[in-house]
This record gives sequence, C-alpha cells and structure tokens, in this order.
Amino acid sequence: MKKRNFETEVVHVGYDSKDHLGSLSTPIYQTSTFTFESAEQGERRFAGEEDGYIYGRLGNPTVSALQERIAALENGEAGLGFATGMAAVSATLIALTKANDHILCSQGLYGCTFGLLTLMEDKYNIKSDFISMDSEEQIREHILPETSCIYVETPINPTMKVIDLEMVARVAKEYDIPVVVDNTFSSPYLQRPLDLGCDIVIHSATKYIGGHGDVVAGLLVGKEEFISEVAMTTQKDIGGAMSPFDAWLLLRGLKTLPIRMERHSQTAETIVDQLKAHPNVKNVYYPFDRDNPDYEIAQKQMKLGAGVIAFEVKGDKKEAQQFLNRLSFLKIAVSLGDAETIIQHPASMTHAVVPEETREKMGISNTLIRMSCGLEAWEDIWNDLEQSLNAVNATEAKM
Ligand SMILES: *Cc1c(COP(=O)(O)O)cnc(C)c1O
Repeated sequence: MKKRNFETEVVHVGYDSKDHLGSLSTPIYQTSTFTFESAEQGERRFAGEEDGYIYGRLGNPTVSALQERIAALENGEAGLGFATGMAAVSATLIALTKANDHILCSQGLYGCTFGLLTLMEDKYNIKSDFISMDSEEQIREHILPETSCIYVETPINPTMKVIDLEMVARVAKEYDIPVVVDNTFSSPYLQRPLDLGCDIVIHSATKYIGGHGDVVAGLLVGKEEFISEVAMTTQKDIGGAMSPFDAWLLLRGLKTLPIRMERHSQTAETIVDQLKAHPNVKNVYYPFDRDNPDYEIAQKQMKLGAGVIAFEVKGDKKEAQQFLNRLSFLKIAVSLGDAETIIQHPASMTHAVVPEETREKMGISNTLIRMSCGLEAWEDIWNDLEQSLNAVNATEAKM
C-alpha cells in the first residue's frame, strides 16, 4: 500500500480498533500488572522468549500504541514513553555515556538539561562543551576521543537560533558519534531530524505533542537496538515510565498536531510582523523571519516556524515586567505549545539559574520576552499585546 500522509498517520498508525473490541478511541489500560496464564508463561516472559506485558513500568498497551505512533511520525524504528521530557533526556544521556566521557552540545540548552549535564560532570567527570555549531570546522575542532554523543536543540530557546542538522549529522558520521536532537520546539510535523541523518530524537511531549497544557510527559525515538537498551536499563531501572492515562492524552493531542502547528505558525508569523513595526519593541526573534540570520537553514529543515517568538521591550527589566502585568487575557506562564497564548520573562523565570554573564552571551537580556502563540484569533492576541506595548514608558523606551 502507498505510504500514507503524516496527517493520516497521526490519527491511525500504531492502533487498530479490531484488536480492542472495536473501540474507536484507544482504551486506557489502567493496570499496574498483567496476569500470566501459567507459571511457565511467566518464566517465558521474563526470559524474553515470549512477547507480552509483565508489569506497568516495563510496558503497557496504551503506552505501546503511542510509542508506535511517535516512531512512525519521526520516521524512526522504535519509540519509548517517559513520565516527563527530562526523564527521556536523562535516560538517554546516561545510556549513551560512561564516567570521564565528553558530550558536545549546542549553546543554550533547556535549563534542566543544562542542570543534568552539570550534575553528570560533578559526579562522573562527564564534561560538556557548548558551541554555536555554525560550521563543520568548529564542530570537528571540539570533538575529542572521549566524545560519546552530540546533543542539539534547534531552534534554540529563547533566541530562535537554528542549527543545520544535516551538517551536524554529516560531521558526526565521520567520527561515528550519535547525534541526539531535542525536537520539542518543532514537533515531528515541522522537523524530522532522523530524515536529516541524526540518530536519536527526544521530545518534551508536554509541549506541542500534548498541545493542551494538561500533561507532563516525554518521548524518545531511535533505532530498535538503542530503544530496547534504554527500555531495559535506564528506563526500567531509574523508573521514569509513562502512565497509561498520559499516553491516552498524548494520542488524543497528536491527532490535531498538523492543524494546530499550522495555526500556531501562521499566528506567530503575523504577530512577528506586528511586533517589528511597533516603536516600543526591538529585536524580534523567529526562525521564519527573513531578518533571522538562520532563515535559510530554517527554510531548509523546517516546514514552518512554529509558535514561539521572542522580542525585547524597550526600557529596563521593570518595564518588561510591567508590560507582562498589563496584559489582560494573555497568560503569564512558562511552557509552550498550548491552546492558550502564554508569555514569560526568561531572565527571571526559565533562565534565572543561568549566570547573568552567560545569559547576556546567549542573548537573554533583562527585557527579553518569550511568547508561545496559542490558538486564539491573532487579532485578539495582538490587541492585548499592543495595548500593553503602547503603555511602555516613552522616556525609558528611548533606550
Ligand atoms: C520543557 C522542555 C524539556 C523538559 O520537558 P519536561 O516535560 O518539562 O520534563 C526539555 N527540552 C525542551 C526543549 C523543553 O522545552
């Protein structure tokens, strides 16, 4: 049969109602354990000689349906569900490294990923380097004999810098080093790192995949061999397994991923144009903005720019905070990818743990605002932003 389109797979792949008494919606197998028909069957299951479920932390049919679906959507061999995005990140990095190894990272990682890398250095002497990854030479210069993986986020939060994944994968292949991509900010609808030659994809499914701000979860996709290794070691024994109800919420969220991503992206593009024209705004950051220095790369590897934008309000930190306080219905909150537009102040919230000097180097000033465009009418989002921007102190705004 002809390969079905993404919009169809996102609804169907990995689940057949015929196997579940005709239930159109994937049933939630709310159970902690699974019964064996005989002692011998239990023995065979534990020995891995017979497929089948054993215990909730080792697998669940609702979670399996989601795992199959995300693997197909990312064009990978296998998928694995986790309790949180960070459970997926930690299980992956611990599986890929041993004491004294080295990890080469993109600059500006998710705060808790940065925290985990710090912990791995303190406890196991696993060192990390953070580089811009804007040329093959620069990547080659930083690869060491003990480099065990390359870890990339693109677009980078919150400044929306884009890294050329095909280029990173090409260099990594020369050294036979796996490339891990945190694909949270794009979702598989907009960017598929495995198609670009990368090896492993991670998602905080909390964001676009869930899409409704009601679940915290993580997903991992890669080669069958690597996924089973993680499933049988760093997931099974550390224990960050996904709950069946969360898997059900994500299966439900995924069905509308393509239409949500189209809308999030369309709204973001329009709001970016409005922001750029406003006198009290400077430096607007968005992957699909023509003025973004990485525009060409973004166009090459992403279908659309997604819903997150960042911009600076003229003035100082206080002005930026007052800008947030004056918003009428847009919500001040961290996270992204929800139906609601949510907006935050990275320097004092998501990136507060990063020392000010490093923050400045990453482009995170005290007036930077990050916003995740929701599914509301763009006119209403803009009206709320505009009334608050208009009130930015005009004398301060000269800065
Ligand atoms: C939110 C996020 C994470 C962590 O995911 P949780 O589900 O909160 O554990 C990791 N990476 C990125 C890019 C994120 O935005």
